[in-house]
Amino acid sequence: MIKATLKSKLLEDICVHVQLDNHKWTYLFDCGYASLLSHGECQKIKALFISHTHIDHFSNFDFVLRNQLGTGNTTTICGPPGIAKNVQGKLHGYLWNLIDRSSLSFLVREINPDNTIVTYELHPPEWELVKLDEYKDSVIYKDPDFSVNYTILDHNTPSVAYKMSQIDRLKIGEFPFRQGAWISKLKHAYQANDSNLQIDVHGEIFTSGELFQYLYIEKGSSVAYVMDHLGSTENHEKIIDLVGGVDELFIESYYRDVDLEYAKLNHHSTARISGEVARKANVKKLSLVHHSRRYNTEVQDLWEEGRAAFEGREPVFLKPPVSRY
Ligand SMILES: [Zn+2]
Ligand SMILES: [Zn+2]
Repeated sequence: MIKATLKSKLLEDICVHVQLDNHKWTYLFDCGYASLLSHGECQKIKALFISHTHIDHFSNFDFVLRNQLGTGNTTTICGPPGIAKNVQGKLHGYLWNLIDRSSLSFLVREINPDNTIVTYELHPPEWELVKLDEYKDSVIYKDPDFSVNYTILDHNTPSVAYKMSQIDRLKIGEFPFRQGAWISKLKHAYQANDSNLQIDVHGEIFTSGELFQYLYIEKGSSVAYVMDHLGSTENHEKIIDLVGGVDELFIESYYRDVDLEYAKLNHHSTARISGEVARKANVKKLSLVHHSRRYNTEVQDLWEEGRAAFEGREPVFLKPPVSRY
């Protein structure tokens, strides 16, 4: 199970923290100012998936950096073209004369519109950008427990949307024997599609095929993160393609529909449009996040606008919508 938690409060920016069952590391989608993100959580972060580096999505990188110092981690940062220089710029903002190379290092993966991924590494104290490799892939991050796909949206700058998908797991259910080494042997036989393997279950011999009945597949869950983007047909096609059927979608709803023209001007979506695209993508759970502070006193109505579009019904507002721009 993937557990994704919004770490930014209403007046803050945007940051979603991700944990997986039985998994040592944690992950972040964006790191805008988020007071609910703790020191301890920062130390366990293995990778950051950054949509783009407008300040409201990246200003809290310093907090992550501060709390990872001394962990000896190699932390991966994925993001749009130019993010390696943004990361280096942040690092060059401090003095590192007492920090050695073993303290912390970064791998930065820049995602280009043609699916080319360029990887750089940076080490203290100089934090030079050293290019490691360049390859094409639709997957930006792989782990034995999950993988992350992406698409690049137009926000008058590339804005990367991500989907994290947990790998399905082969599990053993209830069985009438004692636990033992036979379980892993059985799982290997299942994965190799071998139903004739002889398996010794504490002195009793079975074929693997006879024991397959005790196995089942636990379906992995998925979460998608779609931040700032123009509510255009082209962006929507890419979003639906990436997030179709996802368990949970975090999507920007920076403006209300009454300010649609202003949203377009700033290459953003509205709560209604984001709700609609989530409905078209058959998303199971919708989380509308990242709102303009101008709607702070009417955020219930902003959510209602997006939720109604998601559920395909008319919204019921507490107050009639009023333009804030
Ligand atoms: Zn933003
Ligand atoms: Zn932005």
